[in-house]
Amino acid sequence: MGLFSKKSPCPICGGKISWFLPTKIEGEYICDTCNSKIDMENDKRIHLTMQGFKKYLTFYNQNQLLKDQFVISERIDFGLWDTKIIFDYKHKLFCMSKNPDKTVFEGKHLKSFTIKEDSMPLFEGSAEGIRRYTSTVPERAMALAPQIAQFMMNREMARVVDKMDDGNENRITSMQYFDIPEPFQTFNVELHLDHPYWTVIKCDMEGPRFDNNRPDVNDYIREYKRSIEEIEKLVIALKTISFQGIPGRFMGSSTVRAQEVNIVSAPPVDAIEEIKKYKALMEEGIISQKEFEAKKKQLLGI
Ligand SMILES: [Zn+2]
Repeated sequence: MGLFSKKSPCPICGGKISWFLPTKIEGEYICDTCNSKIDMENDKRIHLTMQGFKKYLTFYNQNQLLKDQFVISERIDFGLWDTKIIFDYKHKLFCMSKNPDKTVFEGKHLKSFTIKEDSMPLFEGSAEGIRRYTSTVPERAMALAPQIAQFMMNREMARVVDKMDDGNENRITSMQYFDIPEPFQTFNVELHLDHPYWTVIKCDMEGPRFDNNRPDVNDYIREYKRSIEEIEKLVIALKTISFQGIPGRFMGSSTVRAQEVNIVSAPPVDAIEEIKKYKALMEEGIISQKEFEAKKKQLLGI
């Protein structure tokens, strides 16, 4: 037999131990199949005993029943790392995956949650209620408008200067990138659970980024709004499975809408510039006067 034939079979299922970096529990190798069933927080995983693992397998098998009945009613996408949370509204379940292939949690396991923009709270939820904090992100994004305008102007100036000596663009200007830090980096989501294998699940959602070639406050705010819609979807989903029928002094979905409108209705600093562009389009006959008026109203938030 081969080099590795001396390895004893898996003490749990009698299966074959992998030749490649097999996992150990209390110094004993377990097979990949058994290992693939482990889904718990790192701290608990590190301290897992053989006895504890057997107990976990009972939990795992029971959890299989929840996986089998899982019907996806909502899927929240966290972007960059493809993190997803799926919800089953009928059975009040959720799972941190795009399919119910990891531990399925019951709504009652969720004790509270927080969603922050970096360290600034945006949402807090528990059986006490759900609270939304006013974000300063749109405001802070708009406050960057002068810096952005300055950047664009400097670059335009550099381009002109660049062309002055020989009439050609030497492409030096294309190397200038906008690197002013965004108002915030990530939405930090924390789910606090009352569960034997998980006490907290943390996941991040990337905040919007300025285009470092063509930074634009409007684009930023638009992208921010899209992220907020996803966050609101998450809050409503968490409320649906865990905190249904909580006191009314906190938000309902209508409050969410109202606040959302606030974000849009503040006229962007460079709205005037945008309007000029549309006016030019109208004068060239590309858009009609009516379309121009509509766009103008939209840009001014009136
Ligand atoms: Zn095994």
